[in-house]
Amino acid sequence: MDFNLSDDIQAIADTVRRYANEKLLPKYQHWDKSGEFPHDMYKDMGQMGFFSSLAGSQYGGSELGALAHGVITYEVARGDFNAAYPVLLCGGLSLLLENLAPDHIKDEWIPQVLAAEKLLGFCLTEPGSGSDAAGLITRAELEGDEWVITGEKASISMVMEADALLVFAKTKQDDGSTGVSLFFVPTDSEGFSRSPYDDMGHKAIKRGSASFQGVRIPKENLLGTQGRGFPEAMKLFDIARVLLTLMCVGAAEISIEETGNYIKERKAFGKPIGKFQGVQFPLVEAHSHVELIKLYCYRTLWLRDQGLSHTKEASICKAMGQRFCIDAIYTCMQLHGHYGYTSDFPFEQRLRDTIGIEFADGTSQVQKMVVARELFGREVLAY
Ligand SMILES: Cc1cc2nc3c(=O)[nH]c(=O)nc-3n(C[C@H](O)[C@H](O)[C@H](O)COP(=O)(O)OP(=O)(O)OC[C@H]3O[C@@H](n4cnc5c(N)ncnc54)[C@H](O)[C@@H]3O)c2cc1C
Repeated sequence: MDFNLSDDIQAIADTVRRYANEKLLPKYQHWDKSGEFPHDMYKDMGQMGFFSSLAGSQYGGSELGALAHGVITYEVARGDFNAAYPVLLCGGLSLLLENLAPDHIKDEWIPQVLAAEKLLGFCLTEPGSGSDAAGLITRAELEGDEWVITGEKASISMVMEADALLVFAKTKQDDGSTGVSLFFVPTDSEGFSRSPYDDMGHKAIKRGSASFQGVRIPKENLLGTQGRGFPEAMKLFDIARVLLTLMCVGAAEISIEETGNYIKERKAFGKPIGKFQGVQFPLVEAHSHVELIKLYCYRTLWLRDQGLSHTKEASICKAMGQRFCIDAIYTCMQLHGHYGYTSDFPFEQRLRDTIGIEFADGTSQVQKMVVARELFGREVLAY
């Protein structure tokens, strides 16, 4: 068993670490306070190849694989948790396009997404359905050479910046997940509108709702097989759960490092607080949990790169990992005393940002349902 990263992956990890330390970390809190999307930083990351690991070389991808993409996501998140969201979405959704889109969409869009010239979003959740994703009611009807899409989507990450959305809609009514198909919908289509949410975190990248009122798209914008939208997209998307967890790992790890420095400086009872075991031990526990999760995430991505099953592992990463990371950041905030509670320090923001990951791509209950299904079989499912 070799736990070393390959030379290629290590080289890109070093590049991303430098960029994150110099450019991302110093402005992490600025973007939260201004609420602006950091366009320049996003462009930099695309041009430096941060979105490209999963994509084929014919589209400008590096084909370094899932582990490489995870390492980049984690390194970016050490600097700026929210900056890792475009890494996740641009990389992951390009992969969906590469596998499911017709050639003309792949050729036009993937190179532009990888170069940060176009941004994609993913529309599954609706006002009336989240965990029960098959309960969606957005519909797509074929009229001549066009699909007509009608419905509302809720809680879509980066929807305000997206140039196109991958949208799940029912093509066959009252048929559960088997009647759901996936569509490619440019956001300049007539009948499309969107509006932002006022979230507790993710202020710079934002979430929001998307409305499709009789939006017409060409027949060829169906992605994959009609009625197979769920199995085809979700199989490719286990990776997202690991990447979301690695975003939390990055935020937790940098918090632990910052706190390690602080406890050597801050004095109480005549000595640095780091001399007290009551201060050291919670930080040691936080580090241990985060390190265990990071290794498990890397192993899960390695399984994927070997073409091995990793559905159960991906859900374990997300169900357990995010909780450990939030606890670690909370510990760091607490060890900074009253300063930790101010927005002068990044811990309160990191808490707000990482808590959002509890919901994205399925809550911890939903992840545990997946793990139970994979461990014990479909007969333990309640539906
Ligand atoms: C930061 C963030 C980013 C997101 N990004 C996107 C995105 O880009 N695209 C997108 O489509 N969606 C996105 N979402 C939405 C996300 O996928 C949903 O919030 C999630 O699937 C849960 O659905 P819900 O919020 O409707 O909760 P509900 O399904 O209403 O669940 C409410 C509560 O009940 C629990 N629950 C439900 N059913 C069960 C059950 N059978 N057993 C036990 N507990 C259960 C849930 O775990 C939860 O705690 C995002 C959400 C957040 C917060």
